Amino acid sequence: MIKYVSSRNKQEAVSSHEAVIHGLAEDGGLYTPDHIAQKILPQEILNCSYPEMAAKIIGTLLDDYSAEEINACVHGAYDAHFDTEEIVPLTKINDGYLMELWHGPTSAFKDIALTILPHLMISAYQKEKRNDTIAILTATSGDTGKAALAGFSDVSHTAITVFYPEIGVSPIQKRQMQTSVGRNVDVIAVKGNFDDCQRMVKQAMSDPEVLASLDGVTLSSANSINIGRLVPQIVYYYSSYAKLVNSGAIADGDRVNFAVPTGNFGDILAGWIAKQLGLPIHKLICASNRNHVLTDFLQTGVYSIKRPFHTTMSPSMDILISSNLERLLFMMSGNDDAFVKEMMQQLKQNGRYAVPQELRKKIQESFCGYWTNEEECSAAMHDLFQCEHVLIDPHTAVAMHAAKQYKAETGDKAPCIILSTASPYKFSHDVLKAVADEDIADDFAAMDRLHELSKMPIPQGLAELKKMPVRFRRSIEIKDGMHVIADRMKEIAHAED
Ligand SMILES: *Cc1c(COP(=O)(O)O)cnc(C)c1O
Repeated sequence: MIKYVSSRNKQEAVSSHEAVIHGLAEDGGLYTPDHIAQKILPQEILNCSYPEMAAKIIGTLLDDYSAEEINACVHGAYDAHFDTEEIVPLTKINDGYLMELWHGPTSAFKDIALTILPHLMISAYQKEKRNDTIAILTATSGDTGKAALAGFSDVSHTAITVFYPEIGVSPIQKRQMQTSVGRNVDVIAVKGNFDDCQRMVKQAMSDPEVLASLDGVTLSSANSINIGRLVPQIVYYYSSYAKLVNSGAIADGDRVNFAVPTGNFGDILAGWIAKQLGLPIHKLICASNRNHVLTDFLQTGVYSIKRPFHTTMSPSMDILISSNLERLLFMMSGNDDAFVKEMMQQLKQNGRYAVPQELRKKIQESFCGYWTNEEECSAAMHDLFQCEHVLIDPHTAVAMHAAKQYKAETGDKAPCIILSTASPYKFSHDVLKAVADEDIADDFAAMDRLHELSKMPIPQGLAELKKMPVRFRRSIEIKDGMHVIADRMKEIAHAED
């Protein structure tokens, strides 16, 4: 069995279902598999449907769930919530492939994991015969929030609270969250950025006032710090590879590259785990926007957050502290928990850390990093629409531009799969401005105009948004965070299930 150990102290070890329930280790570390021994070769999944593939891969990593439990979770997530049975279609474009990850209920890739996480959590809850309420705290840079709210809405024994940065998220993202339904949900804007929100959520896990307020309530997280978020994201690396083999575009065993628009390093880390499991991946191209802390890290080995924070057209990547990098450091250093602890302490104290050259070189064997400024991002959306009549969102455009830079620099001819992480309609104003140079301030009007120009269907959840009543308007100061969370915990404790 795989043990899930804290990246800061491997003596703290739990099983996979316990890691899913708790989200974050008590010492602030991230639960990480202590080894990945079993291989899953492409030939084993070539003829599988998406749910079958998901059951095999998720079952391999979350290995203390029974096959029946995993199957029930997989079907609960992937049978009905997506607008295509393929779940994740792959489209050919001139310069590679687009992996369409936005066919779920909230039109961003977070749906792939957040449709199944509630099932994994409830299954774990039943295994333990618990009778508390799981209170899920979630920080969002835009897309996780709504996907988590949709996933946990009215799920019994759970309550969810989402914190989003008041300035930064797109108007459509904001409206999606503010109109959320369900008795057990709450949505709060924070006068700060994503890093402030994520810090608040992590801090709450060990804050005395919050802990004192937990009467029959257990804290957890739906961020990608939860291993239950990460594992389901491995599946689409396999499913895309299988599509290429099955269509004859590549032979089984050929290596491919993936370009991943990256914020918290969760999505791309799932790709690296796929590689550890045996998927023939050559390079994982880590794409950043102007907040290119990861690009610099991958090139120099120095991770430094002493830099200005920018809000961009790709808000889900406006992040300086990429939490999941901690897991990569742990696994790539040979489970060196003392080293990881030291790096994280330095980051907290000095705003930077530097990894040894040897480790940097090892990381560079699998990863390379590029970043894209706002003009290049607009140009990428513009050019693809003009040349091929394909609409992409700003995050996807950042990845596409990174893939181009990588190709130009290395001459690598391996097929490149670009992760398309959100529907362009979530960012209607910016996308319309980029592709047609039309400036329509109202995002819903921009959405209609974009539809007129592209004829691409508007996802149902976004089309209905305009009519939905706004339920949540509260906004708080960062300094009040712990107090607000403590109050919310008391409210949850007294709510009737
Ligand atoms: C969350 C998100 C990302 C970044 O993914 P990470 O796992 O945080 O690296 C990229 N694009 C979109 C649209 C997202 O919502």
